[in-house]
Amino acid sequence: MSVFLLPLDISKDIERSLAKYWWGSSQSIGKKIHWISWDRLCKHKSAGGLGFRDFRDFNLAMLGKQAWRFLTKLESLSTKVYKARYFVDDVVRDIFNERDQSCILNTHIIESIGEDSMYRRLESSGVYSIRSAYKLLQLQKNRWRGDDVDSIWAKIWKIKAPPKSINILWRALSCCLPYNLQLQQKHVQVSVVCPVCSEENESILHALVECSFAAQCWRHAFPQVQVGVVGYFSEWLDQMLSRCNQGDRAKIAVVCWAVWKACNDLVWNQKSSQAYKVVESAEEYLKQWKLAQINSNIAPVSSLLEGDGASSWVKPQIDIIKVSVDAAIFKDREEFGFGLVARDHLGGLIKAKSVLRKWVSSPETAEAMAVKEALSWIKQEGWSQVELESDSLVTVQAIRSSMVMRSAFGRIAEECRHSLRQLIKVSLNFVRRSANMVAHKLARASYLYSDQ
Ligand SMILES: [Zn+2]
Repeated sequence: MSVFLLPLDISKDIERSLAKYWWGSSQSIGKKIHWISWDRLCKHKSAGGLGFRDFRDFNLAMLGKQAWRFLTKLESLSTKVYKARYFVDDVVRDIFNERDQSCILNTHIIESIGEDSMYRRLESSGVYSIRSAYKLLQLQKNRWRGDDVDSIWAKIWKIKAPPKSINILWRALSCCLPYNLQLQQKHVQVSVVCPVCSEENESILHALVECSFAAQCWRHAFPQVQVGVVGYFSEWLDQMLSRCNQGDRAKIAVVCWAVWKACNDLVWNQKSSQAYKVVESAEEYLKQWKLAQINSNIAPVSSLLEGDGASSWVKPQIDIIKVSVDAAIFKDREEFGFGLVARDHLGGLIKAKSVLRKWVSSPETAEAMAVKEALSWIKQEGWSQVELESDSLVTVQAIRSSMVMRSAFGRIAEECRHSLRQLIKVSLNFVRRSANMVAHKLARASYLYSDQ
């Protein structure tokens, strides 16, 4: 796949097999209902899918890597062979159509210092990656939302609860839980009446929320939370999520899961449960799951060096100044700011500064510019022994790395590296956000107190 473009039919065949496997069809069992299309499953989680791979697009993204190599590794054998075979005379005339040719050839090139180089705008390193190419293809097809969207989908995937309970929420929102109304729409011969109360048609909102049994569970789990009249499960869930904190959102997910399980127990095993017991067992399940997560969450970040990763601010040793730096982005104003704070070994404030600038291309570029600003500030003030701390791991790693990065971010990181080499007694460390709150708040306040 990384070298050849698979024929469309083969890509489709592979996807069909995957879909059959996913929905549980097999030769022995027969065909199962495919509740939603493969196309929909391929949508990113933020856009309502499960982020399965679209084979064709992934194939194209992988091939893009070869094209990137031809453009950047001019000395490689394969580039030479391809060049001799496919673009003998002129890359521009061989690759681009007439309109693009004239645009490129008529571009006014300014005299610049240093060598020109090709870099990829979507990557902070400036180097092509299959992941970003695939993401771009999905964004163009509206299968991926921006990373900061606040959709109901993004909200449910952020809930820290057992995956199978989130899966129930996703299925309920995607109308692919086998409740009776939905089954009938899929031409399965069933009664549409709710099997629990036998009073109303069994829609997803009814089964999980409005049915007398479900309503009892919710009253028991959230006696304080009131939800207005709603027409759809998604509206109800959205209201519930907005009225609860992170901990209670996890409880919503497990209670949903438990209610659905109780309905199924009744239908398939003729086992009835009491509402308070269903809620209690859901709460216990969540508690156990959270306990199990504690051990798996403390795995260290492998790329941290000694002195990295502090989660609270620590006083420096005597004669050493600690400078904390952070950047904040104000997207709507197209500006970004940074905060710099210098403190001594007693934790006393020596000096602080906040600066507001015009918007840069990416958050990590803003962080890198903030570190650059901090380094020139340290130089200007004539401080010799300094511990500089940033909470942007990407930036700290880029400055430490010797990798040549072609992007604007890479260039700034390189300048920081250069300054650090001159400032011999200045060290740069990564700390967690919680250890960088003062600089963080100062950066956020930079649009009020800039250049002070
Ligand atoms: Zn009912």
